[in-house]
Amino acid sequence: MINNNYVEALKKSGYKITPQRLAVIDFISANPGHFTADQVFREIKKREPTVTLATVYNIFRAMKSSGIIQSFEVNGSMIYESNNIPHANFICTSCGSIRDYPADGQEFLNLAKTDGSVVQSVDIVIKGLCPKCASEKSVRTHSIRSIKREKS
Ligand SMILES: [Zn+2]
Ligand SMILES: [Zn+2]
Repeated sequence: MINNNYVEALKKSGYKITPQRLAVIDFISANPGHFTADQVFREIKKREPTVTLATVYNIFRAMKSSGIIQSFEVNGSMIYESNNIPHANFICTSCGSIRDYPADGQEFLNLAKTDGSVVQSVDIVIKGLCPKCASEKSVRTHSIRSIKREKS
């Protein structure tokens, strides 16, 4: 099911709806969440070989300027996401998964405004271990400890 807001956003930005662009919209409609242009490009290329990475970037740029997707940068790569409500992104440094936590960033906005600065965007990125990796790490540390204990 194609998200019509995405189609409308592209039309508003003056884009014609081509099969390649439709394939991009179709993919992110079906796979909402966090994604990079490169990831989406590789997936779409499988069924729409004429799509280019530039097409994906252009569509993301148009959708971002329409405010229906947002993006933030982590370790030099731009991550786009379909959740356009302000929130904090928790990135697992072990498996790379990204989780959303409610946070509007209002206190950061207010902080920056106190000296007359003009805020353009607030990205809240938290890095750590997701529950799954955190429990795996503790299991691993635990088993290493017990092996050591057995040896001594
Ligand atoms: Zn993880
Ligand atoms: Zn997010």
